[in-house]
Amino acid sequence: EPPQAWLAGRALHMAMRTPRGHAQHKGSYGDAFIVAGALGMHGAALLAARAALSAGAGRVYLSLLEGSMPLDPTRPELMQRDALWNAGAERLGTATVLCGCGGGKAAAATLPPLLEQAARLVIDADGLNALAADGSLATALRERDGRGQATVLTPHPLEAARLLDCTAAQVQADRLSAAQRLADDLKAVVVLKGSGSVVAAPGALPYVNATGNAALASPGTGDVLAGWITGQWSTHAGGGTSLQALVAATVQLHGAAADAHAQHGPLLALDLIGAMQRLA
Ligand code: AMP
Ligand code: MG
Repeated sequence: EPPQAWLAGRALHMAMRTPRGHAQHKGSYGDAFIVAGALGMHGAALLAARAALSAGAGRVYLSLLEGSMPLDPTRPELMQRDALWNAGAERLGTATVLCGCGGGKAAAATLPPLLEQAARLVIDADGLNALAADGSLATALRERDGRGQATVLTPHPLEAARLLDCTAAQVQADRLSAAQRLADDLKAVVVLKGSGSVVAAPGALPYVNATGNAALASPGTGDVLAGWITGQWSTHAGGGTSLQALVAATVQLHGAAADAHAQHGPLLALDLIGAMQRLA
């Protein structure tokens, strides 16, 4: 019997680590744009942006989808732009972009230009719901692959069910197939989250992650994962690494950080970023 999935383990995470060359500068680690955060959801955007910074992105720009927030005094490294377009839309072609994370209905309007222009695009949460609701966005997503633009989708089971037009229970009944169908159909790397996260890629054997526990069932941990994937991918922008393996390594790290959290009870998302940094 051939294996039906790889196990994402510590060795994978170690293999994906990038030592910093002594003459490298922040431009070597890429620009990450976090396009997220409707009114009342700015925390999700901030968690994702902080995670992208901690994962090593060279510069992180936070573009809130609605409203504004004061400078985060504990994370002065972050740069805010009122709208992505003012941050220099021409830079999207070389940037790693995250769309979603508390984006609400505003996420849908930002997706068409991002799908067309972003070199590397991660879509989470309300970005995924917008994709599920509008077939023309899904078509635009499928066209990215032909232009050499890669995409990562990070649905939890309900978001996956909306994309597959089925129920969350049906997704959970066969998680490997659900993730694989999404990856093959949308031509993207797909992280189907939850206990035993599956990382699928078109036409490839999926990874199953063995780390993580219910301490992650707390608000904002998904935003941290999406932000870390974005920041980590930004540091590998030159290519040469399997995107599926890179994403699986981040999923492994995210879960391992929760496993290292010895206390019972929830692991708060902001503390999760620190725990990931200690293990990375
Ligand atoms: P979200 O559903 O977007 O809030 O993301 C929650 C994050 O926590 C995902 O990365 C899940 O895989 C992870 N997570 C939540 N509950 C568990 C669990 N019981 N075991 C392992 N990982 C979990
Ligand atoms: Mg989420």
